[in-house]
Amino acid sequence: MPKLKFPQSQQAASQVKKYLPGGVHYNFRYEGKDTIIPFNRGKGSRVWDLDNNEHLDLFCKFGALIVGHQNEEYNAKLIYYINKVLSVDQCDLEERVCEKIIHHVPSAEMVRFGLSGTEAVQNAIRLARAYTGKPKFVRFQGHYHGNADNIMGGKPTSSEYPVPIEYEGDYMGTDGRAPNILEEQSFLIPWNNIDALEKLLLYRSDEIGIILMEPICINGGGIVPAPGYLEKVRELCDQYHIALIFDEVITGFRVALGGAQSLLGVTPDITVFAKAMGGGALPMSAIVGKKEIMQLYTDNKVIHAGTFNGYPLGLAAVLATIELLENDPSCYERMANYLTQIGQSLVDAAKNVGIPMVAQGVPGVLVFHSESAPLTKAEGYNETTKLRDILITRLARNYGIQFSPVSRFFSNLLMDDSDVTFFRERIGEVMTDIARINEFL
Ligand code: PLP
Repeated sequence: MPKLKFPQSQQAASQVKKYLPGGVHYNFRYEGKDTIIPFNRGKGSRVWDLDNNEHLDLFCKFGALIVGHQNEEYNAKLIYYINKVLSVDQCDLEERVCEKIIHHVPSAEMVRFGLSGTEAVQNAIRLARAYTGKPKFVRFQGHYHGNADNIMGGKPTSSEYPVPIEYEGDYMGTDGRAPNILEEQSFLIPWNNIDALEKLLLYRSDEIGIILMEPICINGGGIVPAPGYLEKVRELCDQYHIALIFDEVITGFRVALGGAQSLLGVTPDITVFAKAMGGGALPMSAIVGKKEIMQLYTDNKVIHAGTFNGYPLGLAAVLATIELLENDPSCYERMANYLTQIGQSLVDAAKNVGIPMVAQGVPGVLVFHSESAPLTKAEGYNETTKLRDILITRLARNYGIQFSPVSRFFSNLLMDDSDVTFFRERIGEVMTDIARINEFL
């Protein structure tokens, strides 16, 4: 399989740098002199660039696109709603959509909608702070919760004695960010380590009102919680009057209709959803939680606002997505199966050229690492491995494979056997190219 050529795509991507800083819409897709490729057509799991090259889309818009490209049923439902009513504040869909979410998600007794994962996390923190009356939150190394000053990066809390973290620059970009906000608001500790949490709470539980985590740590490398860890966290939250927030922005609706919590059997107080909840074409997020907590919005004790919150087309997208998932009972098993096959092909192809490789994670999302054993610690995803993984994602697109920038790959409802074949036919070449790069050997 020869390398693809992208003259028109690259030219278009370069030209747009005149207008779009870095040529991209967000920094995680910035590639310096290189350019990411623009697409103008999609169908199923495939997208076509401006040179009409076909690519397998395992990026799926950072995991949001669970319905696949041009899913006819999804599109038809959106078009129906476009022709029905658009910009009103309240429509005929709220009750149906909320009922579905509440039916599937263990922690959901009430729902508030928003647009992005970032704002939903921020609102969940505000809500939890109001509920517990305690100002600070615990967050975990390797977990990501969006584009906001108070949750990105920072220096871990000392494991010797819990002291407030210092604000320190890292790869997330520091200029322009609110000073001292990280240290004022949160503690940053290792995840999957109950001792670290217990110790911190022993000293600081009077200030800590919130524990915020990805229940399955996709951003830290696709790591599942250690047996008993989440149960113990739940216990500590109850003991110290702390609200447990699960950030299910990636895992929500992607690993199961009830999110990771329905698989893991631990119920948080508040959950945040975004990405796949809206199917992938439209931005939608939600904060869900216990009635007792969500009711704080009722009497304006806690503010939650946003012009487009609950916009009709977004609600239609959530409804369409949930219905598609509900009406296809074996879909999660099928998506997991395709992804497992793709992951195994990747591992095998790497092995053939002497590169260690693992693919780890959960149904619907896998993460690969050029390591000989799966990662077990989110803070253990070191920069060298990360850079190697990023290199693979970049070289793969020369052969028409689109991974998510940091080595993730996602499935969608329209995936089929031909996608596995497409991947197998190309991944060997990618790995051969990687093996040629000296640093890899
Ligand atoms: N939380 C998690 C776990 C995420 O992975 C992301 C984005 O990748 C966010 C929050 C932020 O969501 P958004 O990009 O929609 O603001």
